[in-house]
Amino acid sequence: MDLKGKVALITGAGSGIGAEVARKFVREGAKVCIAGLFEEELVNVLHELPNGSAVQCQGDVSKPEDVTRMVETALSLENKIDVLINCAGVSLRGSITDIDLDNWHKSFEVNLHGPFLLMRAVIPHMINSGGGSIINISSLGALRLFTDSCAYSSSKGALVTLTQQAAVDYGPNNIRCNVVCPGFVHSDMTEQGLKNISPIIKTDIQTFLENAFEDIPLRKPGTTDKIASVCFFLASDESDYLTGTVIPVDGGTAVVDVFGVGMRRAVKELRRE
Ligand code: NAD
Repeated sequence: MDLKGKVALITGAGSGIGAEVARKFVREGAKVCIAGLFEEELVNVLHELPNGSAVQCQGDVSKPEDVTRMVETALSLENKIDVLINCAGVSLRGSITDIDLDNWHKSFEVNLHGPFLLMRAVIPHMINSGGGSIINISSLGALRLFTDSCAYSSSKGALVTLTQQAAVDYGPNNIRCNVVCPGFVHSDMTEQGLKNISPIIKTDIQTFLENAFEDIPLRKPGTTDKIASVCFFLASDESDYLTGTVIPVDGGTAVVDVFGVGMRRAVKELRRE
């Protein structure tokens, strides 16, 4: 299984999961166009990659003119795009009654409108070249709800539906569209979340995380390379009968019975008393 001869456009590739996907894809033989908000981050990733294997394009996925530039930059590699990975995203917290309206709109602009614009711009090229693979990075938060996360969960949930709609509409053109839903993964995004809660937790972050992962089957947080591996499979021809799927990459979090966990904890507490 490799990606030799393929060209991938990856958004949100200046950091975290997107950057790791770019590194993995290049190692597996693909050429990549890395796109994202911050040029300095993109240039740093670019410098890690072998000459000629990658180009970068600074831009905002929610702006149609920036998306056009991203697609043109990707086409400058081999005049085709085989794989699109929509990884750019923001996580802005708040419940329905207290979220800032700008944050509500921004969540949908980046997490949903961005992937829509990218798919709209890339699909005609994929049709012309005989097919492709679109991988949208949603979140476990689209499938299992966390408190105070209305904009993130609903924008990521809509991204799941949009991806499946595209799978139905463009399957006949040999374009596969799948969704990856990461659970907790160490990245800039989650680091910021941990910083926000660190003043209120009673332990250090490491102990806090170990306790938090006690209840998931694989007992550990995800890492960016685990998400990149699943993207690699979805981009490769080994997954060529897979479309419309939603794949949680979460150490088994999605299958845990939260009521059962609550009961187990309650019994443990009672035994301690
Ligand atoms: P990250 O913050 O490192 O990556 C997000 C990237 O998106 C950044 O490089 C950022 O600059 C870019 N970005 C943000 N807004 C943009 C815009 N308007 N235009 C272009 N680029 C923009 O965090 P990450 O964890 O690597 O997140 C990658 C994806 O994975 C996100 O879509 C996120 O929602 C999803 N995800 C992450 C986790 C996790 O635990 N880390 C869990 C579930 C889903």
